[in-house]
Amino acid sequence: MQLMREFFLYLSERRGLENFISGFPPTRKLVERFVAGRTLDEAMQVVKALNSEGIRVTLDRLGESVVDKSLVEETVNEYLKVLDVLKGTDNSVAVKPTSVGLDISREVALDNFRKLLQKGDFIEIDMEASRYVDDTLWIYRKLKEEFPEKKIAVAIQAYLYRSEQDVRNLTDLKPCIRLVKGAYKEPKDVAIQDKRKVDENYVKLLFYLLENIPYTLVATHDEKIIDRMLEFVRQKNIPTERFEFQFLYGIKGNLLRKLKDEGYNAGMYVPYGTHWYPYFMRRLAERPANVWFVFKNLFG
Ligand SMILES: Cc1cc2nc3c(=O)[nH]c(=O)nc-3n(C[C@H](O)[C@H](O)[C@H](O)COP(=O)(O)OP(=O)(O)OC[C@H]3O[C@@H](n4cnc5c(N)ncnc54)[C@H](O)[C@@H]3O)c2cc1C
Repeated sequence: MQLMREFFLYLSERRGLENFISGFPPTRKLVERFVAGRTLDEAMQVVKALNSEGIRVTLDRLGESVVDKSLVEETVNEYLKVLDVLKGTDNSVAVKPTSVGLDISREVALDNFRKLLQKGDFIEIDMEASRYVDDTLWIYRKLKEEFPEKKIAVAIQAYLYRSEQDVRNLTDLKPCIRLVKGAYKEPKDVAIQDKRKVDENYVKLLFYLLENIPYTLVATHDEKIIDRMLEFVRQKNIPTERFEFQFLYGIKGNLLRKLKDEGYNAGMYVPYGTHWYPYFMRRLAERPANVWFVFKNLFG
């Protein structure tokens, strides 16, 4: 299992394979499970349908590791268009710092986030590989200070040893934090490798966040963790307005709907666009069983 995870994460970083795998017809079918269309118009059909069910949406325009300045500009312009379309709703956008220039410099990325926050009211900053964490948190702190009236969230990864200290350091900002397990290939000295220990750390950080910050985005599909969390919330009388369950498009939608029906805030992270390769490979790495779906379509 661990080996498969590493294999798919290795592939996710091999850009040379992107064209080959992207053009493979059985893959495309599985991609449609995780990606809500190629264009904003297509994605908005999904957003409207989810909103009509009472599910809030975090819209992600797929793209990362962009170093070409004109492509960074194009990404920012696309996000400005998305924010225009989402205006007046409680939906948000998720932005990867490397899609808006973090590989050029943290100042370029910060400036681009400023442009987005001048237009939108709710922005979530995804967390990428560990080498970006310092700069991402630097950007987050700056934005929280400059835009105190806006909702700004940042993702924190439970597999990183540093995350416990990071959440403690962020607490004074009264942050909104999306807690995830972590989706990248990280070395042993940086990230916990044993899945059970990652799960334990997730629970530990989650309990801390629920008690100490204004709003937590509980981004996991792990039912055992969700059950433990709901028990904790009941014991500690934590109001439901202080957290939201957030699932990825294409994964356990029925569980999310059940949580919503029980009265909890529910959100879905909905990616769209053509640059789906690394995102898709990370989804395969989380659940290699998904690969059988490709093979079934190929030979079935
Ligand atoms: C809303 C949201 C935002 C995220 N943002 C980030 C981010 O900014 N940075 C980052 O590093 N990671 C991010 N992630 C990914 C995260 O780090 C995990 O890799 C991913 O969520 C799988 O972990 P899990 O918590 O669902 O637990 P797991 O233990 O991996 O999975 C629990 C159960 O969920 C189901 N499941 C999980 N993944 C899949 C899948 N791919 N296909 C089918 N079923 C699946 C399975 O039934 C599995 O048993 C995000 C995840 C979510 C839900």
